[in-house]
Amino acid sequence: MRVAFLGLGIMGQSMATNLVKAGHEVAVWNRSAGKQVEGARAAATPAEAAQGVEVVWMAVSDTAAVESVLFGADGVEPSLTEGMIVVDSSTISPSATRKFAERVAKKGARYVDSPMTGSKVAAEAGTLLFMVGGDEADIERLKPFYAAIGKKLFHMGEVGKGQATKLVMNLQIALIYEGFAEALTLAAKLGVDAEKLIPLVNASMVKSGVVEYKAPFVLNRDFSPNFPLRLMRKDIRLALDAAKEVRAKLPALETVEEVYDLAIEDGHADLDYAATLLLLEKWAGVEVKGQAA
Ligand code: NAP
Repeated sequence: MRVAFLGLGIMGQSMATNLVKAGHEVAVWNRSAGKQVEGARAAATPAEAAQGVEVVWMAVSDTAAVESVLFGADGVEPSLTEGMIVVDSSTISPSATRKFAERVAKKGARYVDSPMTGSKVAAEAGTLLFMVGGDEADIERLKPFYAAIGKKLFHMGEVGKGQATKLVMNLQIALIYEGFAEALTLAAKLGVDAEKLIPLVNASMVKSGVVEYKAPFVLNRDFSPNFPLRLMRKDIRLALDAAKEVRAKLPALETVEEVYDLAIEDGHADLDYAATLLLLEKWAGVEVKGQAA
């Protein structure tokens, strides 16, 4: 099938590569030059990439980026045709998503919000999880693509529900990791060895996928970005904005947002979000030490 893939960042690069490997005819576009995908046709603009395809798939940073790719100068909009499906795997605002879908529908095209979880490693392996908002029939048509890039999809409801679910998921990841990072910091201050603590965590009810995934990186002091801190900060803000729209208060997330802001002030925006630990260590005057198993 013919697909345009827009946004070749940490996630998009591997997703587009896996679509090519699965035998799809892929056109790619990235805002800044120099990013390519072997076996794909490089397009000069989003509009050009979307010409004549059945599906336009996006993985760009944020709400403003999706708006610009779809409706900005050289955006996808003029290339939209009846029945074409626009899929968004970026994490963006649920309410903006509904507006984008309405505008796309005016050209007879379909919209599916399909944010993902699984980070860089899962994108490379083609084992991402997708939380999807949209019509069943559109999702059915997308199955060959999901098979190439993902392990499972969860249909959460109508357009916008995928993004809403994603915010609910990342809220938990941010809070769980922050709990772990604070535990490691206090452990270091109290002289408890992180290498001895982590097996206990993993054997107890404190165990979590977040800790299992992050602990080896933290113990190796590897804060290179799997999921950049600046993007998790964006998702925390999106969750707080969505909460405000429906009059829900999330005090723990508000506090964690402040930690992220200060970590960004300290120059950690492009490191992994695990680097909020560096700020806690600085405040406590301690460094968590250890070797990954
Ligand atoms: P990334 O590596 O920072 O890549 C961002 C991409 O968006 C780049 O291609 C960038 O183009 C493009 N972009 C940014 N602003 C743009 C604009 N105004 N117009 C057009 N393109 C623009 O991010 P990523 O990690 O691939 O994440 C992509 C999306 O997936 C984000 O919404 C993120 O929250 C979500 N996500 C990421 C992960 C993860 O673990 N990394 C997991 C799940 C979901 P340039 O190359 O020109 O900067």
